[in-house]
Amino acid sequence: MKIGFNEGCNRFCKDHSVLEDLNLCEKYGVDYIDIQSECLDREIAAGKYTIDDLAAWFADPAHKLRMLSYNALIFFNMKETQEEKDAVMAELDKIIEICDKLNCKMIVVVPSMDIKRKATLDEIREDAVAVLREMVKKTEPHGIKLSIEFIGAPTMTINRFEDAYRIVQEVGSPYVGITLDQYHFHGMASSFEALEKADGKKIFVWHLNGTENMPCGAAYNTDEVRLWPEEPGDCLDHKRFADALKNIGFEGDVCTMEVFRPAYYELTNEENIKTAAERTRAHVEKYW
Ligand code: ZN
Repeated sequence: MKIGFNEGCNRFCKDHSVLEDLNLCEKYGVDYIDIQSECLDREIAAGKYTIDDLAAWFADPAHKLRMLSYNALIFFNMKETQEEKDAVMAELDKIIEICDKLNCKMIVVVPSMDIKRKATLDEIREDAVAVLREMVKKTEPHGIKLSIEFIGAPTMTINRFEDAYRIVQEVGSPYVGITLDQYHFHGMASSFEALEKADGKKIFVWHLNGTENMPCGAAYNTDEVRLWPEEPGDCLDHKRFADALKNIGFEGDVCTMEVFRPAYYELTNEENIKTAAERTRAHVEKYW
């Protein structure tokens, strides 16, 4: 099992830079990075570096770190107007171009939130299946997979593992799967029974984290309550997550740390990445 780092961990650390993250991940033996689109957009706009600078970094044979995913195309589903639907596809075209330059083979897609329509789960599923089928027509020729990240919050249209899994099953493409984020799984009480019966090949990305034990669906049960795994107060059953993934044949081969805790943004970028790398490595040694 390789180890991964998601920039959710350090996106608001002082003087954050994706280019610096690449060097620090390399230094601390991280195998894969999930690059956060919000970091890229903000830092490229500020003139810190260009996509071509990042491409040159990845092209350097001295560097072993690889980009696991572009994280993320947000709010891809339940669009009402043709204009909104076209905008999602136009954004996807832009992201594919970036992924091709950075040799990235995965785009994480995040469902829409706070929609106006009182859509049923069936309506949401039908819409998501149709949109993903269109999207995968664009990504497959580039060898790029789409990974739905269900978000464990009541306002999100796809917020439980089992709902995301049904969508992925219905799409029926080897290029469309799921990002299993442990915090999100716990956030809306996704079903371990469903995970334990799933096909592990449909899970593309594993986001590792711990979390404080907040009530399911509480407004304050947000990303900010995430913890490094097994910090005091972490309530997750890490053995069960790892065993489930093992037993169902997870082939993603990377365990990626992703926390968004404000206290961790007080660390330097280097301390943050060093800690994440150490904790992820220890987790994999213990449970995998
Ligand atoms: Zn995640």
